[in-house]
Amino acid sequence: MHRPDYNRYEPKRRNVLDHRKKQFADPAFSASEYPHRLNFYTRPPTADIKLEEFEQWAIDRLKGMVTKSVPLLLGELEACSFRNITGDDLAAHMKTYLDKSLPLSPDTAPQDKRDKQRQKDHYSHFILRLAFSSTEDLRRRFTRVETTLFRLRLESSSMSELNSFVRGLGLDWFETVTEKEKTDLREDLAASLGGRTAVEDEVWVKVDWMKVPDLVEGRRVVVYGGKAFVPGREQTSMIVAEFARRLEQELELTARRLPRLDEDDRLSPILAHLSKNFITPDSAYTNSTLPEGAEISARNIDTLSEHYPACMSNLHRALRRDAHLKHFGRLQYTLFLKGIGLNLEECLIFWRTAFSKITDDTFNKEYRYNVRHTYGDVGGDANRRGGGYSPYSCQKILTEHPPGSGEAHGCPYRHFDMDNLTNLLQGMGVTEKGVLQGVKEDRDARKYHMACNRVFEHVHKQEIKKARDESIMTGAQLETIVHPNEYFKRSYLLKNLDKSASGAKDVKMEG
Ligand code: SF4
Repeated sequence: MHRPDYNRYEPKRRNVLDHRKKQFADPAFSASEYPHRLNFYTRPPTADIKLEEFEQWAIDRLKGMVTKSVPLLLGELEACSFRNITGDDLAAHMKTYLDKSLPLSPDTAPQDKRDKQRQKDHYSHFILRLAFSSTEDLRRRFTRVETTLFRLRLESSSMSELNSFVRGLGLDWFETVTEKEKTDLREDLAASLGGRTAVEDEVWVKVDWMKVPDLVEGRRVVVYGGKAFVPGREQTSMIVAEFARRLEQELELTARRLPRLDEDDRLSPILAHLSKNFITPDSAYTNSTLPEGAEISARNIDTLSEHYPACMSNLHRALRRDAHLKHFGRLQYTLFLKGIGLNLEECLIFWRTAFSKITDDTFNKEYRYNVRHTYGDVGGDANRRGGGYSPYSCQKILTEHPPGSGEAHGCPYRHFDMDNLTNLLQGMGVTEKGVLQGVKEDRDARKYHMACNRVFEHVHKQEIKKARDESIMTGAQLETIVHPNEYFKRSYLLKNLDKSASGAKDVKMEG
């Protein structure tokens, strides 16, 4: 056990702020034991570690390696989810990062080595909980990437590791299926397996059916007497769902306790620094260099809309058609406009002019405040200090608030049927059958980004070739687009290559 050997405050204050006395009601300081490779992180660590370890372990969980050029470990997981890299591809892609920064040896490895690794994993998870529990957005993203990390590890575990881990969890909502139940339900159980394995070869459990709505909805389990009968291979997703559910709850509890940490001036700066490092398109989109002379103004939006991706093109067309957009459409579009560099004043002019069927008075009463709020001109302190909300990434548009009837927000590759999508794309000048067929295939495979990037590459075919041939843009600057504002910026730069070769070189593409 180590005592922190680095402390920046005076002895008098240290006495007042002694975290052992103040932070926890009933502290029990001892080294944890790590019988399993996997961890549900139900107990916070309580043994002392050095302050340097506190920061370094957390950084290692964030980073693939501690060099600037290598993406963050959790950040990389998030980027993979934006790019729709899943399953075996994701496991293969992440192996290097995991092996380098956060390896977890199997139970057969020497105990010393494996306990050290497991301790680092345990601590770094809890430290990052502190860093990423402060806002809903951070909590959501942290839950998503930690759940993916947990799933990767679960899927790479041996059957015996998995069994002993699950037994150790003591999940009281698991019940063993009796031999009699298996016999009585044999036909239904066999049907749910779809002939892939025999009923006898599976390890069955039964759970309250409400715990596994996705399995019930997908007819992958038998429901009898209020219980879902779940075969072995489907149990992984149940455990992962339980992990995510608990983590969400725990993060909310952590958020409520955070104010107490403000008293501790050793940790607050470190935690603030860590959360800043969790940079992804959701929060980090910044408007970077556009070529000189680009006119980003209300009156030029129709011209600029030639560079829009399908989501924004659809919003713009709906706005011009109806002289109105509903709430989420206005929010998605306003944030996008803010991201392309339209200032607040111009944005207000744009909306006022676009809502041509209403009076000034109605506009001022019902819409002006919302636009100002989105820009951070009014609203709570945090919103104003942060300059308002960030433009939505594809991930956010694809997964949150699916559009209902009469709404034009969302991602057309995901939320439109194929006929409507084809009409929209044709309106954007995409008429080639091969491209439309490719979009259909991407869409059927739920690879919405791929469809969007396919359209981008088709529409900018000549310019991309020129930018590559003349080394105006590097391969990294032309990689997969995962943000509507990147789509716009790259399209604008490519279509204005001649005027803006130097400006284009300055563009930093964020993944
Ligand atoms: Fe917009 Fe992204 Fe969908 Fe493309 S993939 S249409 S940029 S949300």
